[in-house]
Amino acid sequence: MNEPANESQPTQTNQNNPALAGMCQVCGGECRIQATMCDKCENTLRGWIHDYPIWIHALREFLDSTAHYGGHQPGRVNLPSAPTPIRLSVVDHLQEIEDAVTALWCRLYAPPAMPWATSIAVPPIVDMLKACWSCQRLNRLPDIGLIWHDWQRLARKTLAIIDVPPSRHGIGRCLNPLCGVELSAEVGAVSVDCPVCGNTYRVVDVRLGFLRECIESGRAFTAGECAELLRECGFQCNANTIRSWRKRGRLQPAGENEKGRPLYRLSDVHRQVLRRDSI
Ligand SMILES: [Zn+2]
Ligand SMILES: [Zn+2]
Repeated sequence: MNEPANESQPTQTNQNNPALAGMCQVCGGECRIQATMCDKCENTLRGWIHDYPIWIHALREFLDSTAHYGGHQPGRVNLPSAPTPIRLSVVDHLQEIEDAVTALWCRLYAPPAMPWATSIAVPPIVDMLKACWSCQRLNRLPDIGLIWHDWQRLARKTLAIIDVPPSRHGIGRCLNPLCGVELSAEVGAVSVDCPVCGNTYRVVDVRLGFLRECIESGRAFTAGECAELLRECGFQCNANTIRSWRKRGRLQPAGENEKGRPLYRLSDVHRQVLRRDSI
């Protein structure tokens, strides 16, 4: 009647198939008899499956194209009326993940060769991930090599979206008043392309726009951050100068950050810089 799933049967041993016995289908290295991948490859795959619930959560945040690299850093600009176009590539990628998880889950749990198997209820994606992660049969699948490499490709793509190289940082908003999305650029970049409206700007102009906005809104930063932003906009300023102004009473902190470092209003620092430069 129903053919048993052969990958879960312990009869498939090195005696039947000596050439493949104990060989990892992923890396070709040695592995335990009856297993189709070695401990190292298995741990890697289980690691991706384990981390995916968090990655999916992060991906959903990136659906909003105004989300940007370094979204929790002080350079973040939150606009009450920011446009929120959806990133279609992220929508596609989330679907791709769901398909891969469902396929793996069905592979491990759905009864094979049953006509009604197509209509089985599929649990929520996070539950499927948990079930796959804890499944003992994962390292018994005969085609684990293909599956492993599919997951590797998937994980790389996901991390390319959510795991942001530290050299990229938010620099300010697109100068197109109809667009205004947060732009990010690599450190030292001269120009930046807006991924939404397609305009190209000089980084220094975007930084100036950000500076102006921070001055007008009264936003406060650490001495180091103030100095960096001002330097990027062509002013001569360093953090020690800002601290010495405070000591001499020319500058008052506006508060402190979570690490207890004093925060200075950029407008106050900017005023001191202009005053010094005009003397
Ligand atoms: Zn291996
Ligand atoms: Zn734009």
